[in-house]
Amino acid sequence: MKPFEPELVLIEEAALDYKLGREIKNKYESKGVPIRMIESHNRVKWEEEMTPLELFEKAKNTLVVGVKKTLNFKSCQPSADYRVVTSTSCPAKCEYCYLATNLGSAVYVRVYVNLEEILEAIKKHIKKNDKEITTFEASSSSDPVAVEHITGALKRMVQFFAKREDAKLRVATKFDNVDSLLNLEHNENIKFRFSINSSYVIKTFENFTPSLTLRLQAANKLQKAGYPVGFMIAPIIAHDGWKDAYKEMLDRVVKICFQSIEDDLTFELIMFRFSTRSKNLIEARYPDTELKLDKEKSKHKGFGKYVYQDEVADELKRFITEQIEIKFPNAKIDYFT
Ligand code: SF4
Repeated sequence: MKPFEPELVLIEEAALDYKLGREIKNKYESKGVPIRMIESHNRVKWEEEMTPLELFEKAKNTLVVGVKKTLNFKSCQPSADYRVVTSTSCPAKCEYCYLATNLGSAVYVRVYVNLEEILEAIKKHIKKNDKEITTFEASSSSDPVAVEHITGALKRMVQFFAKREDAKLRVATKFDNVDSLLNLEHNENIKFRFSINSSYVIKTFENFTPSLTLRLQAANKLQKAGYPVGFMIAPIIAHDGWKDAYKEMLDRVVKICFQSIEDDLTFELIMFRFSTRSKNLIEARYPDTELKLDKEKSKHKGFGKYVYQDEVADELKRFITEQIEIKFPNAKIDYFT
């Protein structure tokens, strides 16, 4: 898929103190993309009046270049010990995206140019953690692969983590923008998990994301380059014909990606969920969405969160687990949630 090209670039003044900030500015200036300087990447002020929907569309086509000031990483259980953030949001428009809900109007695609400071902060977190191996999740606030062609941040992190005996990096993605990572030394310290789904879910809800085939080809390239690879089936949706659709998806994983059964392959299974806040935002952004956001027909998990009723959840878990066990006998299912 063609990598993301913004229609507007907003640059925080302080970002130009960094080489990467200046490079990004020069790159988009030479491409003729409009550029505006801003005071802070946290508080973008738009020049025009827009409805929430227009603002969402505009923000998703805007690249904001800033300096990451909060270098005290949050915990990221159960995925990893800490979150490391080199970008925020992503150019895709998945209708169910929890990030797009959490970010509200600040859904614009943000990249941070102070990578060396972020790496220094990683070192400090490794030191203060008393574990033998400290793990970091790179995808808690964005899909970092989607903007890798702009920042090279993952490449820099791969180079960093490859040399560490005491730390590992985890990356989750739907994007296939991985070629710049293939020839790097990585020491198997960086694990990529590809988010995959049934063709109905991809076609209906995952707007502006690479196809399943492209994701699997990218996973296959990384696997051939020796990286540990896993899959996240997320969100699992009980749509009409879901059993056949997820079975077919797993058949394609076998066919395109893993002809041989890998011992270290992992699956993370996350069923669809929504909250009152996400329901309101999704319905405002996608008035015709086919997502089922009916609170009455869902199970309330507390804190305004809704999931499938137990009967449906149990069947999703049973069927998909069984299919994975048949097709990938040596794979490990990390969790179903
Ligand atoms: S690719 Fe991930 S981060 Fe981007 S919109 Fe889709 S769910 Fe959200």
